[in-house]
Amino acid sequence: TQRYDVVVVGGGAAGCAVTASLLRRSPELRIAVVEPRDQHYYQPGWTLVGAGIFERARTERAMARCIPNGAQWIRAAVAGFEPEKQCIVLEDGNRIGYRALVVCPGLSLDWDAVEGLKATLGKNGVTSNYQFELAPYTWQLVQNLRRGLALFTQPPMPIKCAGAPQKALYLSCDWWRKEGVLKDIEVEFSSAGAVLFGVPTFVPPLMKYVERYNARLNFNTTLTAVDGPAQKAWFKQVNAAGNSQIIEKDFDFLHAVPSQHAPDFIRQSPLANVDGWVEADHETLRHPRYGNIFSLGDVCAAPNAKTAAAVRKQAPVVAENVIAVLTGKGPRALYDGYGSCPLTVERGKVVLAEFGYGGTLLPTFPLDPAVPRRLAWELKVKMMPSIYFDMMLRGREWLAEPKHLPHEPMPVEATAACNF
Ligand code: FAD
Repeated sequence: TQRYDVVVVGGGAAGCAVTASLLRRSPELRIAVVEPRDQHYYQPGWTLVGAGIFERARTERAMARCIPNGAQWIRAAVAGFEPEKQCIVLEDGNRIGYRALVVCPGLSLDWDAVEGLKATLGKNGVTSNYQFELAPYTWQLVQNLRRGLALFTQPPMPIKCAGAPQKALYLSCDWWRKEGVLKDIEVEFSSAGAVLFGVPTFVPPLMKYVERYNARLNFNTTLTAVDGPAQKAWFKQVNAAGNSQIIEKDFDFLHAVPSQHAPDFIRQSPLANVDGWVEADHETLRHPRYGNIFSLGDVCAAPNAKTAAAVRKQAPVVAENVIAVLTGKGPRALYDGYGSCPLTVERGKVVLAEFGYGGTLLPTFPLDPAVPRRLAWELKVKMMPSIYFDMMLRGREWLAEPKHLPHEPMPVEATAACNF
């Protein structure tokens, strides 16, 4: 069995960022990144692809360019974990050993949760910005729609970038409004949730745009089935008394967001909590039962907003804590739950929602965060791709210094069990 100081599962936003952070701190570490895909995606750009603002190619980069120099790329998929033996198991049955493990394979999109959806994606006016291949189709549909019913949906939480389903609505409506066709388009946003956005501060500015675009909001309403060729969609709506009814709609445009859950190989592993996500202390991001295992990114069970912005703050925390554990100390770096959602309410304006655990506002700039701003738009459109590729994935930590436990490292009973 090959053995590394650190094995990182997944070479997405979290895997590359944490590897870069580790190597910046300790270039001598032997790190393997296990990642099966040839391409790495900058997913936050897909909202802009769906609105004709970015070319799709800007959101894709060869994985070989993203995995930090100095780490070994193992091009394979992980199938299971043997934490007692400090090993992961690959799909081909090979095992790889580690002294510390970082688990960040993202989440799975469950297109099959909505009957008939998969078969009609990319056809019949049905699209989703949640997939690289489909985001350009969103833009094509938006440009072609002149009248009719446009539906936007949001599945049950948790999902990655919880604002993305409504960002698709705002940018589409903004285009239709400027083209003068919005008056002939009926717009509905149906969400499985009970509120427009989870942090109340941001609801009033968003509601202004909902009103401007004359969009109808349907809460507690979940897309359950689609008939693409007939352009029909069915929703299950639950009322205040808990009774549900099925609603049928004839649509001309449907932007659907799939249900999301932890990947199967994680759900079935000893690392998972009851909901399938990788268990982790919310602050140190260390597994509560296996002291040399950490998690971050979308797969992590911590109750932060699942965003690349969260990863930017989590990566240095995990890097510091992994190094602490490798040197026999307890983890001291703490994550505050920071996540961010740049709500693109119109071309040229963004409500930059930045918040931590419990909905605490954590604005980077000393400005009222509830105001839609051009500055935040410029940040999202002009700066974010390079902050992501050239800083975050390279371990250049900008305004991401973690807080630390003020006292000596916590006791490390769990790490004592590891045969370093
Ligand atoms: P990913 O980046 O998805 O990477 C997971 C990696 O793990 C993948 O490369 C995958 O191939 C690999 N993997 C999977 N299975 C295995 C396996 N078995 N073995 C090994 N490797 C495996 N975030 C923001 O901050 N701001 C935004 O505005 C924003 N907008 C978004 C809009 C959309 C439409 C979408 C889809 C996402 C958006 N996000 C946004 C969310 C952001 O993209 C994710 O939160 C972020 O990519 C999470 O990083 P991750 O590394 O956990 O997962």
